[in-house]
Amino acid sequence: MRERDMKPATIAARGAGATDKATAGLVPGIHPATTFLRDPEYALLNAANSYARDHNDTVRASEDVLRQLEGAADTLLFPSGMAAAASVLRTVRDGGRIVLQSGIYHGVTTFAEAFAARRGIALDRIDASDPEVLTQVCATPADLVWIEVPSNPWLKITDIAQAAALAHGAGAKLVVDGTAASPVLTQALAFGADISMHSTTKAINGHSDVVGGVLSCRDAENDLWADIKTDRLQAGAIMGPFEAWLTLRGMRTLPLRMERMSANAQALAEFLDAHAAVEQVLYPGLSDHPGHALAKRQMCGGFGYLMSFIVKGGADAALAVAGRLKLIHRATSLGGVESLIEHRPTIEPQSGLPGGMLRFSVGIEDVEDLKGDLAQALEG
Ligand SMILES: *Cc1c(COP(=O)(O)O)cnc(C)c1O
Repeated sequence: MRERDMKPATIAARGAGATDKATAGLVPGIHPATTFLRDPEYALLNAANSYARDHNDTVRASEDVLRQLEGAADTLLFPSGMAAAASVLRTVRDGGRIVLQSGIYHGVTTFAEAFAARRGIALDRIDASDPEVLTQVCATPADLVWIEVPSNPWLKITDIAQAAALAHGAGAKLVVDGTAASPVLTQALAFGADISMHSTTKAINGHSDVVGGVLSCRDAENDLWADIKTDRLQAGAIMGPFEAWLTLRGMRTLPLRMERMSANAQALAEFLDAHAAVEQVLYPGLSDHPGHALAKRQMCGGFGYLMSFIVKGGADAALAVAGRLKLIHRATSLGGVESLIEHRPTIEPQSGLPGGMLRFSVGIEDVEDLKGDLAQALEG
């Protein structure tokens, strides 16, 4: 069977076919060696490996699963989502221009702002989910357009194909942070994105025990991808073999987890939407969400595991609800098998989020147990 004919569940369950060549083990090994042997003629015994900053078979095995899930030409793992994001943003030359979606993951915004200020780069922060705004901002040439779909914590949905056309019209490359969708629910490259970025810390690894990030490209034969590869090698932003191996293990169940997490999230979004103590639920799976029809076209197999909801009564009421949870953990991050709730306004007060906003990452627990916990917390 050809690689491109395989469905995500097959690619993931088989670890993209990786096995341990040395022992015939079904599962690939963890390769900790930092350096590799040469023969008496001084040729490398394995031409692919000389030094582990960039040469590691465990990392490559993990990258291969992601490359196949993304339908990508090439894929590179990084030691965190931010290391992956920084590697892309750093390709923009002094005096260049970056268009950045507003209201996205605050770490990306903070890095882009500081980097752009240091290098005399113009930075336009705009609501990219509004096609008119994006059209207007792309009337001026740019180097990079950065969108996050769905966005965190607002769950806005941007039309990736349209954003790609507009970015390309401005001479820019389109980068999509798809962390809240995972490559299983959205293949950004198939919609015309040039780079797909994910924090693998979230759903891709999925077990809240590895920090990592990934970049995949639609076309590897260009300056942008060459710059990114050089940046990773030279700056040494390398994922360790143990982390790559854990990610490889975690990904075997990624499609299965996304299925359950999306189904749980849909049911809980509907429950919260009907609850008297809740003012608003932001989840693309709800039919009255402004991005619902678009998300239906762009997402395959569900609307994801992430939502935000706004509790009536502001910050005090929201914190009281969070404080009463017994099953759902109060913690930052998202995409793990266990459900997490976070009061984002406490964490990023500079972003002007509504005080009553709680971000909810839905796990794989029994949905009735989760519903019961939310119900008792909301009713006080
Ligand atoms: C967590 C996250 C990141 C950053 O990833 P790290 O692995 O924490 O460095 C970037 N984008 C989004 C949408 C995220 O949720």
